Amino acid sequence: MHATAGPPPTPSADALTRALAQAVEPRRVLTRPIERIAYASDASFYRLIPQAVILAKSVEEIRGIFQVSRAHRVPMTFRAAGTSLSGQAITDGVLVEVARHWRRVRVEDDGRKVRVQPGAIGGHVNRALRAYRAKMGPDPASINACMMGGILSNNSSGMCCGVAQNAYHTLESLTFVLPSGTTIDTAHPDADEMLREREPHLAQGLLDLKREIEANPRLAERIRAKYMMKNTTGYSLNAFLDFERPVDIFRNLLIGSEGTLAFIAEAVLNTVPDLPVKHTGLLLFPSIHAACGAIANLRGADAKALELMDRASLRSVQDQPGIPPAIQGLPPDAAGLLVEFQAADEKDRATLERVAREASGGLQLLEPARFTHDAAEQALLWKIRQGLYPSVGAARKRGTTVI
Ligand SMILES: Cc1cc2nc3c(=O)[nH]c(=O)nc-3n(C[C@H](O)[C@H](O)[C@H](O)COP(=O)(O)OP(=O)(O)OC[C@H]3O[C@@H](n4cnc5c(N)ncnc54)[C@H](O)[C@@H]3O)c2cc1C
Repeated sequence: MHATAGPPPTPSADALTRALAQAVEPRRVLTRPIERIAYASDASFYRLIPQAVILAKSVEEIRGIFQVSRAHRVPMTFRAAGTSLSGQAITDGVLVEVARHWRRVRVEDDGRKVRVQPGAIGGHVNRALRAYRAKMGPDPASINACMMGGILSNNSSGMCCGVAQNAYHTLESLTFVLPSGTTIDTAHPDADEMLREREPHLAQGLLDLKREIEANPRLAERIRAKYMMKNTTGYSLNAFLDFERPVDIFRNLLIGSEGTLAFIAEAVLNTVPDLPVKHTGLLLFPSIHAACGAIANLRGADAKALELMDRASLRSVQDQPGIPPAIQGLPPDAAGLLVEFQAADEKDRATLERVAREASGGLQLLEPARFTHDAAEQALLWKIRQGLYPSVGAARKRGTTVI
C-alpha cells in the first residue's frame, strides 16, 4: 500500500503542511497522494515521494519555504522541468516547483544578452532570440522540455556548445536566494559588499577555499585541466580559480550545484551567434576507432558539431521512419559521426560545401560522405542524435537502466 500511495500523513507532516500553507497560498501546496506521486520521478531511475510539492511564485515565498524547511528540519529540493538523469529533481522532503510561475524571458542589448527566470523552457528562450540571429550557448538535447533553472543548476552543455559555451561560461549574472533569505543580484554594483556584510562566514569561507586551492599548484592545475573537459561533474571548482571576489566565485559555483547552495531566481546569459547556414552529414565508419580518428581533422576544418554514435545507439533508431536505410545494414562494429559545418552568411554556402568535401575526403568510410543543406533532412539527422537517450531507453533490456 505504501509503495504506491506514499507514507500516510503523520502529525508532523500535518504541521509541515500547515506551516507551508502560511508561507505560500494554500492551494499551491500540494499534499494529496496523487499529486505527490506525480512528482516522485524525474528522468532518472530513482523514485522519491515528496512530503509536499509547492508551486512557488515569488522570492518572498522561497524565503518563507526556506524558513519552514529549516524549522521542520525537512530537506527542500527545487525542480524545473524534471528532465534530470540522476535524481537531482526529486526528494522525500519538500519539492519546490518553478515550472509554472517563473517563465519570463527578456531579450536585452540587441540580442547579445537574455534575461530569464528559472521556469523558462530553453527552446522558448531560443525562439525569442531567433530574430536577433542569436541563441543560448547551452544546447542540451532536451532543450525543448528543460528549463533555465535546470540548465543553470546542472551546468548543461549539449551538442554544439562544448565547454566554451556551456552555462558556466555564458553566464553574465544571476539573482540568488540563500537559505538565510539573503537575496543578491550579482550584477548590482555593491553585490560583493552586500555578500560580505550579510553573509560574512560564507564570503570568508569562499576566500579561504580559494587560498587553499591556489596554495596547492598540483590541485589548481588538476582543477584547470578537469574543467576544460566536458565530462566533469560536481561543483564548478574552477570558479575558485577563475574569480577573485566572493560574490563572483559564488555566482559561478551555483552553476552545476544542482540547487544545493541557493535558489536561482533570475539569470542573465550572454548569447552566442546562431549561424543560419548549415551543411550537415552523418558519416558512417567501420569502427568507433576510425570515427574517433576522424574527429581532430574535422574539428580542424571548423566543424561546429561532431557527435559520435556507436552501433548500439544507431541500432536503437534504425527502424524509425525516415532513418537512412544504410544504417540498418551496418556491420556490428560500425559507428556514426554527425558532422555539421555552419556559417553566418548565405554567400558562404559554397565554401562550406568545399570544406566538408575536403575534410571528409580521405576518411575511411563505409558509405561515401554525403552532406545536405536541406532543412528537413538536417532535422532528421539531428532527431537521431537528440532522440538517442529515449531511443536507447526504449530498446534496453528489461530490468536495466540507460545510465
Ligand atoms: C532525452 C534527454 C536528453 C538530455 N540531453 C542532455 C544534454 O544533451 N546535455 C545536458 O547537459 N543534459 C541533458 N539532459 C539532462 C537534462 O535534461 C538537463 O540537464 C536539463 O538542463 C535539466 O533541466 P530541467 O529543467 O529538467 O531541470 P530539473 O531536472 O528540474 O532540475 C535540475 C537541477 O536543477 C535544480 N534547480 C532547478 N531549478 C532551480 C532553481 N531555480 N534554483 C536552484 N536550483 C534549481 C534542481 O534542484 C535539480 O538539481 C537530457 C535529458 C533527457 C531526458
